Amino acid sequence: MTITLTSYVQGAWHAGTGEPRMLHNATTEEVLAGFNSDGIDFGGVLAHARDVGGPALRAMNFPERGAMLKALSGAIHEHREELLDLSAANAGTTRKDGKFDIDGATGTLASYAYFAKECGPRNFLSDGDGIQLGRTARFWGQHIHVPRHGAAVHINAFNFPAWNMLEKAACALLAGVPVIEKPGSATALVAWRIAQIVVESGLLPEGAWQFIAGSTGDLLDKMGPQDVMAFTGSAWTANKLRSNTNLITNSVGMNIEADSLNAAVLGPDVEPGSETWRLFLRNVLLDMQQKTGQKCTAVRRVLVPQDRLAEVKDELTAMLADIVTGDPTDRATTMGPLASAAQLRDVRAGIERLAGSGSILCGGFDPVHESGYFVAPTLLEANSADEDVFHREEVFGPVATLLPYSGTAADAAAIVARGEGSLVGSLYANDTPWVEEAVLAMAPWHGRLWVGSDRMAEQSLPPGMVLPSMVHGGPGRAGGGEELGGVRGILFYMQRCAVQGFKGQVHGCFGAQEPAKAT
Ligand code: NAP
Repeated sequence: MTITLTSYVQGAWHAGTGEPRMLHNATTEEVLAGFNSDGIDFGGVLAHARDVGGPALRAMNFPERGAMLKALSGAIHEHREELLDLSAANAGTTRKDGKFDIDGATGTLASYAYFAKECGPRNFLSDGDGIQLGRTARFWGQHIHVPRHGAAVHINAFNFPAWNMLEKAACALLAGVPVIEKPGSATALVAWRIAQIVVESGLLPEGAWQFIAGSTGDLLDKMGPQDVMAFTGSAWTANKLRSNTNLITNSVGMNIEADSLNAAVLGPDVEPGSETWRLFLRNVLLDMQQKTGQKCTAVRRVLVPQDRLAEVKDELTAMLADIVTGDPTDRATTMGPLASAAQLRDVRAGIERLAGSGSILCGGFDPVHESGYFVAPTLLEANSADEDVFHREEVFGPVATLLPYSGTAADAAAIVARGEGSLVGSLYANDTPWVEEAVLAMAPWHGRLWVGSDRMAEQSLPPGMVLPSMVHGGPGRAGGGEELGGVRGILFYMQRCAVQGFKGQVHGCFGAQEPAKAT
């Protein structure tokens, strides 16, 4: 049975009036659902958020909004099994991969409920200590953050239909700003079911949550100076949205999370078979296999000292050979299909372009199964780390390339910088001076650096995992945005204002308070 995905706008579910776009089962290619957003009054959607949702959220303080997020996390978690099934069908995820998205989403909501306790029992934030501005303390200054009186438009990528939508929503709602969520169409079934759960839960005030299944129509053209837009997706789409005349004219706040050619660098001191060596191989394998490589943080470029290349090739290709592709609901399957036919087409074409400047060590672009959007895990070796294609072509699938380098931190950093800005870089080394040099040289090009060593191997979470307490984003190609990072993540939805005046008023009303005690 084909499901019709509806949009939730202005307090009601709306079925599009136009020709529906169809969604397919990623394994069988059967039609699952159809949707279309024609007929929506997008000006009315923005007004509903600004006039109904915003005031209701701003009437709540941080602890109240935090409690709301915690309850929402619980309500969605109750539907975990159903959401995992939908994710397997629509996005082709194995159970493990589905959990990464869905538990990541509910976990991030719960984390923001916890961060609310740092914000104090008010509905604005004091920013740092007050400052004496006059000859005496009588003339005083204090920075504060207040929620914007607009709507947060969230345009999300297809690869994390649950997490991507709810990590953004968590930050906006905690800040006190209503959301309008637009999921990536290819996996909209999962996002739509979550939207239904959110609405049915009744936990959010009316107008705080709207959901668009399909195109955003003229929504961006109607946004105003108090609205913000957070986008996750390809650099190509990001550039298109950035150039929207209305967004530019109204200085609409934009946060862009885009492509990234993340690199893993093996340090020259790491001995084959050592703890750090095994950690390096495990993490590269995980990034290629998890979510079938459709992860913005996945490693695409693997820098290996020239004299270690042969051993890395042998071990990694042997590990990749153990991956079992197939129906993601089959327990024997360790890697499902790509999410859509378009993805399969793009990944095959991308592998072909990479192969023009290197050799395929395993995998390739040949069909893997008779039906479904499958591609084999594909490892390439570059003819040289100088080849441009490996630093600009993000093949969004289970694909990575080995790039030989000299072993010096300076060379590694120079090669990595050719990616022109990444979300996360991972380094594997126990040699602390080497790590220090590499981190300082690579940090300007990264939102996050992850350093693997013998001392943390046993406890570490992998570099591809985005944690709500650490910032996510990156410069240049990665979009130049920043999300999450604990309370930092809500500031995008707020206006910083410097308040100057008599200390009794400025400090008395707006000075920092003790955070609320954890309950
Ligand atoms: P995409 O094709 O750029 O689409 C992203 C979103 O933009 C989708 O919701 C898409 O809607 C929407 N969109 C496209 N054109 C639009 C327009 N003219 N106006 C308004 N919305 C528009 O990217 P994707 O294929 O979904 O995602 C894969 C890409 O996202 C990869 O490049 C990956 O690196 C990147 N990504 C980055 C991060 C990060 O945090 N930096 C995270 C995940 C993914 P439709 O789906 O309806 O076309």
